[in-house]
Amino acid sequence: MEKCPFCKEKIQNGAVVCKYCKKDIPREKTKYELAQEKAKEKEDQYLATLSEDDKKKYLHHQKLKLMAFGIIVFAVVIIIFAWAISGCEELLTTSSSSSSKVDSVDAYSCAKEKVLEALKSPSSADFPSVFSGDIKFNQSGDSWAVDSYVDAQNSFGASLRSTFSCNLTIPDRDSCSGHCTIY
Ligand SMILES: [Zn+2]
Repeated sequence: MEKCPFCKEKIQNGAVVCKYCKKDIPREKTKYELAQEKAKEKEDQYLATLSEDDKKKYLHHQKLKLMAFGIIVFAVVIIIFAWAISGCEELLTTSSSSSSKVDSVDAYSCAKEKVLEALKSPSSADFPSVFSGDIKFNQSGDSWAVDSYVDAQNSFGASLRSTFSCNLTIPDRDSCSGHCTIY
């Protein structure tokens, strides 16, 4: 709370008008307010020197300037917005293309799929881990050659190790075609 300099009643901090005596409370003006006042004063002085027609022209000109400023701000906002959206799209396309890039793990699962199709008892098949170093990969574009081995039971129930060699075409992660030869 502070005191009104005129009637000494208690008034709200920062009040512009005293609610008791209704007088304006003098406030220190901010730099911005002072600058604006000065500019307005200058403009008024300038306007006073103009004829009625010139005054209208000047005011119209000021209005156009304000509109142009508004349009520029609007354009900048639109450009930033468009830029942000295109950035997001780019991010999406790069992430989707990198996720569809075929690597040796994909080639190996494709090879295993084809080997299982060729096995007599695929449920017993036991493949080495893709990280074991027992698998040879050879890539040329979409073509993959995958060589490894599989432990599987034969028709007599005995577990046998067979080597296999696959020639596969894998244009993307969801596509797997080709054939495997089991020795
Ligand atoms: Zn007062």
